[in-house]
Amino acid sequence: MKVTSRPFGILNLLIIIILASCSSEEFNPRSDNRLLLGTVCVLSLDRSEPVELFEKAFEIIAGEERLMSLQIEDSDLSEVNRAAGESYAKVSPDTMEVLQAAKAYASMSGGAFDPTIAPLVGLWGIVTGNAVSPPDPAEIEAVRKLTDYRKVLINEEDHSVFLTDKGMKVDLGGIAKGYVGDKVKEFLLSEGVERAIINLGGNIVVLGSKPGGVPWKIGIQNPFDNRGRHIGLVSVVDSTVVTSGIYERFFEYEGKRYHHILDPWTGYPVENELASVSVIAEKSMDADALSTSLFVLGIDEGMKLIEEIEGAEAIFVTKEKEVVLSSGAGNYFELKDSDFSIISWR
Ligand code: AMP
Ligand code: MG
Repeated sequence: MKVTSRPFGILNLLIIIILASCSSEEFNPRSDNRLLLGTVCVLSLDRSEPVELFEKAFEIIAGEERLMSLQIEDSDLSEVNRAAGESYAKVSPDTMEVLQAAKAYASMSGGAFDPTIAPLVGLWGIVTGNAVSPPDPAEIEAVRKLTDYRKVLINEEDHSVFLTDKGMKVDLGGIAKGYVGDKVKEFLLSEGVERAIINLGGNIVVLGSKPGGVPWKIGIQNPFDNRGRHIGLVSVVDSTVVTSGIYERFFEYEGKRYHHILDPWTGYPVENELASVSVIAEKSMDADALSTSLFVLGIDEGMKLIEEIEGAEAIFVTKEKEVVLSSGAGNYFELKDSDFSIISWR
């Protein structure tokens, strides 16, 4: 008895020690960052992972940027925009996939999300950081007419895209970071990586869980406070959290804030009750397109849309510091800041 029980006991003890050390072990990553996609991209990997993974992952991000950036003259997107009103332009499969998704989200959101918002985005200049005052209303009115996602024609067979009207332009700024996050995750998974955090300018993608199966905790930015100040935490495993908000890019003119998410119908920055919307989903491209869509739609319409979509939840934060959760978001979100309160919407 004694002889057989001793090894069994030691084995048990060993298992308990291993499990205990796993569950209490914090993720102690190695992180690296690059300025890509017009923002800071941070990748955090377990220290046991080979360092070459960083370079490879950043090269994937840079490669997608070369396809979809408006700032790069020979990107797919720049070619499509240059050929507007004239001819189809060939694009890579990746660009086509994002354009197709962008059109689908435009249709799903009734045009609140519209990838042909580029001429308005350019006119406002908020994204480039050059804007100091609002544009002339007559110009806004003229340029607004160039926004219509139904005029993006995609020929799937030969991977080409045509914008039907001269002056039209596409901008994938509301969706592409999500797509790239998914691409990096795919790459890391193919390399056998079990856990990682991909942060593309605040678009967070988490791979796996923390050691011991513990969910990652992702902070939801306080829209009224400095970067890194959170109103609460979202606990997730193998998921993504993407936020759209009034605090991300903006300028102030005569005491009024003009931010970077534009209302396709008015041509002005969206003005509703929202300060931010965060979306939790499996795919970051969905979360990215949805967070922008919901932000433009506002809570009433936004809630209807998010409730129709399976596997996606939203956290709406109002300018009155109220937090409104979609029906399943309470399973993930924990409010930490007593200045804010969770309310049920109407
Ligand atoms: P996000 O930060 O993901 O909400 O995306 C905002 C970015 O998407 C802006 O910087 C613009 O490039 C672009 N954008 C602005 N308004 C819209 C809109 N209504 N629909 C689609 N994209 C937009
Ligand atoms: Mg977005």
